[in-house]
Amino acid sequence: HARRTEGVDKNVWVEFTQLAADYKAVNLGQGFPDFSPPDFVKEAFCKAVSGGPSMHQYTRAFGHPPLVKNLAKFFSRVVGRDIDPFEDVLVTVGAYQALFSAFQALVNEGDEVIIVEPFFDCYQPMVLMSGGKAVYVPLRPREGSAVLSSADWVLSAEELESKVTPHTKAIVINTPNNPLGKVYKTEELQVIADLCIKHDLLCVSDEVYEWLTYDGAKHVKIASLPGMWERTITVGSGGKTFSATGWKVGWAIGSGNILKHLKTIHQNSVYHCPTAAQEAVAQGFQREYELFGTPESYFQQLPAMLHHKRKKLASCLQSVGLQPVMPEGGYFMIADISSIKVDFNDQSSEDEPYDFRFVKWLVREKHLATIPVSAFYSPEHSKEFDKYIRFCFVKEDATLDAAADILKKWS
Ligand code: PMP
Ligand code: GLN
Repeated sequence: HARRTEGVDKNVWVEFTQLAADYKAVNLGQGFPDFSPPDFVKEAFCKAVSGGPSMHQYTRAFGHPPLVKNLAKFFSRVVGRDIDPFEDVLVTVGAYQALFSAFQALVNEGDEVIIVEPFFDCYQPMVLMSGGKAVYVPLRPREGSAVLSSADWVLSAEELESKVTPHTKAIVINTPNNPLGKVYKTEELQVIADLCIKHDLLCVSDEVYEWLTYDGAKHVKIASLPGMWERTITVGSGGKTFSATGWKVGWAIGSGNILKHLKTIHQNSVYHCPTAAQEAVAQGFQREYELFGTPESYFQQLPAMLHHKRKKLASCLQSVGLQPVMPEGGYFMIADISSIKVDFNDQSSEDEPYDFRFVKWLVREKHLATIPVSAFYSPEHSKEFDKYIRFCFVKEDATLDAAADILKKWS
């Protein structure tokens, strides 16, 4: 085997998605909706598949023209600048491949990439596989006050700057954050932007949950801050945007002179993404462009629906004595398990982090699937953060009710 496969072989999704299936668990683990995408994109997909021969053949390598045009049109309005569909946009196999292409294209051996913890787990192996070194800076719960919301988890500007060395190449952020749900405020993004500009760093901004904010939190694109368009790669996901994670349509948006390097990786690995799925996402963005800011927009309807699901899950967790951190955005809610005493009855995994053992016990004994939060920390810091588990609330009410039943019976 090649050396780049070493140390990146364990994967939390592989492990816990299998466990959820093995135990036929009520699944609040892996983040995907268990309800259908909206009719307008399903119909667009069906229309594409039943359409002419071109929908079944290769399309443009860097993105189906209707999709890159609609992404550029839509995001030009959001970012407040003219985005060129053919220069500044790359369509990828989900946000995953946009991230992978970014690290492969921009990180050299020995380069350092700063990752804000907790982080979507794939950033670390992707940085390693590009030959880079991951350097971590944690969001920390504000001291003193009871931690009630993801807004109480903050980044220290001094601590962040202390991580910058002459080898630092990029900073990776994720807003709204997975797993915490933090939505960075403009002031917080400005601190990161100032640092990027001062030290001439790139920024990879993973914004797959950009439409999902609650209770007045507002998503801000770091690429829209002065001086940041030129150095930011913004990553998005059609799966998360239209509740169709299985379609695996994603994108990277940024200045053409950066994007061209991601295209080089793409053309030498994946080359094309599936045409019909791109066509359907293109139609979805066309509709959303027309309805933007109106109550019919899916980008208003989905967060409104999730707002209720999030409340439902939070009150259920509270009623059984699990203190949730209320997310300002995204698909997930983390909860503190330190007050729950369980006898794992299993000596075999004693060297595993506490939350991994807890989650395995929960799926094995109670048939409820969740995700251990220490999986979103570096090996160096996971010990400090092994008392939380993550619940996905983007589920049918019946699924959330089934989870509530399990929790209530047991507590
Ligand atoms: N980034 C984050 C923060 C995620 O939670 C996910 C999982 N959906 C991805 C990227 C990957 O998205 P996709 O399914 O579009 O590859
Ligand atoms: N982003 C989703 C999650 O965090 C799915 C991750 C995956 O399937 N790799 O649960």
